Amino acid sequence: MEGNGAVPARPYSAIVVGGGISGLVAALELRRAGLGVTVLEASGRWGGCIGEHEVAGLVLDSGAESFATRTDAVRTLVDEIGLDGDVVPPHPSGAWVLLPNGPQELPKTGVLGIPANPWDPEVRAALGFWGSARASLDRVLPVREPRRQASVADLVRVRMGRRVLERLVAPVVGGVHSADPAALDADMVAPGLRRLMAEKGSLAAAVSAQRGAARGRKAGSAVAGIRGGLNRIITALVGRLTDDGVRLVPDERVERLDRTTGADGRPLWRVGAVVRPQIDTEEAAPLPETVYEADLVVVALDGPAAVELLSDAVPALAGHEPVPGPEVKLVTFVLDCPALDARPRGTGVLVAPQVAGIEAKALTHATAKWEWLAEAAGPGTHVVRLSYGRAGDPVQGVAGIGPGPETDNELFAAALRDASTLLSVALSAEDVLGWDVVRWQGALPFATVGHRERVTQIRDLIGAQQGLAVVGGWAAGNGLAAVVPDARAQAIGLAGSLDRGMPA
Ligand SMILES: Cc1cc2nc3c(=O)[nH]c(=O)nc-3n(C[C@H](O)[C@H](O)[C@H](O)COP(=O)(O)OP(=O)(O)OC[C@H]3O[C@@H](n4cnc5c(N)ncnc54)[C@H](O)[C@@H]3O)c2cc1C
Repeated sequence: MEGNGAVPARPYSAIVVGGGISGLVAALELRRAGLGVTVLEASGRWGGCIGEHEVAGLVLDSGAESFATRTDAVRTLVDEIGLDGDVVPPHPSGAWVLLPNGPQELPKTGVLGIPANPWDPEVRAALGFWGSARASLDRVLPVREPRRQASVADLVRVRMGRRVLERLVAPVVGGVHSADPAALDADMVAPGLRRLMAEKGSLAAAVSAQRGAARGRKAGSAVAGIRGGLNRIITALVGRLTDDGVRLVPDERVERLDRTTGADGRPLWRVGAVVRPQIDTEEAAPLPETVYEADLVVVALDGPAAVELLSDAVPALAGHEPVPGPEVKLVTFVLDCPALDARPRGTGVLVAPQVAGIEAKALTHATAKWEWLAEAAGPGTHVVRLSYGRAGDPVQGVAGIGPGPETDNELFAAALRDASTLLSVALSAEDVLGWDVVRWQGALPFATVGHRERVTQIRDLIGAQQGLAVVGGWAAGNGLAAVVPDARAQAIGLAGSLDRGMPA
């Protein structure tokens, strides 16, 4: 492993604001380029949306738990930080989808639920004859010059019809992005798909090409995990950065970013951070600020926070604030339930939004999905995780049942009810060996239609400043497969700007 001494030192410094995966990956690249790097993280924990919690003695992922294998980007990082032997595929049984007419297996050949072949038996079972027939029109409909922007719903409805949208795409998009496909920018959540469609002549052919490319790289599944949990990526990355001499500062919230001039007259960024108060105090005494100075700054926060922080340094950003994401609530159960050994719903169930009576949008049967976890839990003990909350739906309830569950106790009751229905096993509180609720406030970017263009505009405005870049899921697209390569590219570009004479 490359240590501190291995990187050529250069007389420049960089500050990374935010210690999620995007900030840590940016720090890795900036350090590799020979800069002195400091990472400032507001919380006491590294990794942002990748984290861990302990439930009934099992250490589990509390946020992200797998990565897409459509490119080698995450795999390359994982290899680089020494976890190459620990990449594992999920159980091949695949996921199910709950439709208004009952549960059925989710076709495995899709991208975001969009099928590569409308006549695949699993697709046909979900769509019915007429649904598959309508979807196959995609093969003959002319592909027009792609519009500047399109929602996922527009793209799918026009090419393949309403049934594909409602029965296959909406459950997957709801489960992964906690949002309605009508609201989401197709280019953000299915990057490259519209371009491939123009090239290949149909949406199905584009899906097929994208899946085929992924298969060429990794046998089988479209995602992979890490034995012991995805959170091990963060532990390994933090270890690697520490070895490389990166200064990692937790518990410091950055609240100010502006320009200053160094002793030698060169322009620097000045970053003001306040230490997270250790105890909640009623008094509104201003917290002492620590001031850092650096040649380069990478802002690795969620979209609204990033634009707010940058608004003094880049006033032209006014009016470009991204839409905050939804609050996602995850309820994790560790269950004593031998009936689940049979994986009644494969690796989990996605819920079509039109299904009445279920408040969860997705359930992951984690011990069915990950063999290492099943071994750790032992026979008869199961981990299931249910997620609640969708963007654009402030009253997250189900028609006829009122608002969605909010408090921990409401979530416990709803999740037990939903898990029983979704897994077709009768579960009661006595079966619960342990449980936890994790809330992710605004952590999932809400990539509404036009988001890709707005990000380009924001990046243009920021790029006009010397030594400044933004990274993160809101800018790159949700998910590690998008975030990791983007953070690397931005950091490399920023370090390269020093060689091109910026800053002066
Ligand atoms: C519940 C959930 C499940 C997910 N599952 C998957 C999955 O299975 N696979 C997948 O690929 N993706 C998944 N994702 C998405 C993926 O986790 C994210 O795209 C990615 O982790 C985002 O990383 P980031 O660095 O952009 O942001 P974050 O992880 O949000 O990191 C931002 C960091 O900045 C810190 N911060 C905030 N304000 C300040 C400040 N003022 N000063 C300093 N620090 C600050 C925060 O504390 C945080 O640590 C999931 C996301 C969620 C929420």
